[in-house]
Amino acid sequence: MDGGMTSGTTQFEAALGVVERLRAAGYEAYLAGGCVRDLLLGREPKDFDVATSAEPGVVLEMFERTFAVGSHFGVVLVAHDEDDGYFTTEVATFRSDGAYSDGRHPDAVRYTRSAEEDVRRRDFTINGLLMDPFGVGCLPSDLVDDPAAVREGVVDYVGGLADLEAGIVRAIGQAEERFEEDHLRMLRAVRFAARFGFVLEVATKRAIRSLAAKTAAVSRERVRDELTKMLTEGHARGAFELLNETGLLAEVLPEVARMKGVEQPPQYHPEGDVWVHTLGLLAQLEEGCSMTLAWGALLHDVGKPPTFRKAPDRIRFDGHVEVGVAIAAEICRRFRFSNEETRQTLALVENHMRFADADRMRASTLKRFFRLEGFEEHLALHRMDCLAGSGNLEHWEFVRERWQAMPEETVRPKPLITGRELIAAGYAPGAAFKQMLRAVEDAQLEGTIATAEEAMRLVRERFG
Ligand code: ATP
Ligand code: MG
Repeated sequence: MDGGMTSGTTQFEAALGVVERLRAAGYEAYLAGGCVRDLLLGREPKDFDVATSAEPGVVLEMFERTFAVGSHFGVVLVAHDEDDGYFTTEVATFRSDGAYSDGRHPDAVRYTRSAEEDVRRRDFTINGLLMDPFGVGCLPSDLVDDPAAVREGVVDYVGGLADLEAGIVRAIGQAEERFEEDHLRMLRAVRFAARFGFVLEVATKRAIRSLAAKTAAVSRERVRDELTKMLTEGHARGAFELLNETGLLAEVLPEVARMKGVEQPPQYHPEGDVWVHTLGLLAQLEEGCSMTLAWGALLHDVGKPPTFRKAPDRIRFDGHVEVGVAIAAEICRRFRFSNEETRQTLALVENHMRFADADRMRASTLKRFFRLEGFEEHLALHRMDCLAGSGNLEHWEFVRERWQAMPEETVRPKPLITGRELIAAGYAPGAAFKQMLRAVEDAQLEGTIATAEEAMRLVRERFG
């Protein structure tokens, strides 16, 4: 859960408190899943989840402020109100999931007293670890930053410790069965492997290869969220290489899979084909980067495969920007991007070739270029594009210097005149106004006029 302003330590201590209370009341309770994995890896967990034998009704009674979320899934949020913020601990009752018929959710959930059964319905061995924070040789609060101590408290029914140590993502139980139950797990496998630099265990990888097509049944929003996480966790290149190796890429993003083997002119792209080039951009996406920059990097050349042509002089991709924008628009629609996310992603694709012309742009064109919303993302994309190719940053440096040196009032100066002045000068309001004001703004941005009088003179000369 979102911790807001609270520190990881506060959240950790709150979760410890929850475990302690549940145990004092005679129930089994553990820290579970991602937080145990992260503590063992020496990484700060995003959140601390608790798994317990107590049923939701009991948990709801035991703590003061609680919320039942998806009560049939057996999860209760316990709220904490500390000086440094409000947050919740997720408390899940041990459960065993029944059959899955929709490829995503269990049809029925059965509570169980068995911690082991609960672990066995989880996805991967590294995510199937429980920890008893009171069964260790130090104060529970000292567990953070001490993976060796965490290890002492681990309860491992599935060989998760060994896999964590060896760097392996392995499905719990029969991989095919587990991916048949919930198809989203295939994407999660890739995401965890990329995030931690782990490999997919052989049978797990084979199962994904044979079932990849089933991802078509998963909601597009969930697929989008997985892909966005892969793109913005700092390991986008590894994630997309794995998506490709497992056959998932062709299922979820066939337009990107088509980049493979699409040759480029070697004088501009010594690195190789469009796919290799795109991976070169993904390699530069930093952890925490914006989702629009990430998707823009992934899709900037998506128009190249369909426009590839071997012209007499060299390979050409005439119109790849326009075609790319159309394809990217379809992808944004398919994945239900918000309007704002769509706008910026498409703007990045649409403008990515303009940097090469910047030194020949009229002043007005350059200033209008700078007005693009989130211009720093356009700059960042162009830089990645260059570094993934020729390595020549000349155009990037030129534009960045001009952009940084130009004050906002120069890029977006106050208009010299408006429609009101035109009416006052006797012009009838209408379609021509737009052209007149545009001509005035052009001249103003070029620096050839600077006053309202000069603006009116220009209008009279040009438009009569
Ligand atoms: P992250 O750091 O990305 O949050 P996480 O391991 O905490 O990783 P969550 O999606 O928060 O992942 O889920 C918490 C735990 O619930 C997982 O560690 C895993 O044990 C279990 N889990 C989550 N999603 C699934 C799933 N689709 N199938 C089976 N178990 C799952
Ligand atoms: Mg989590």
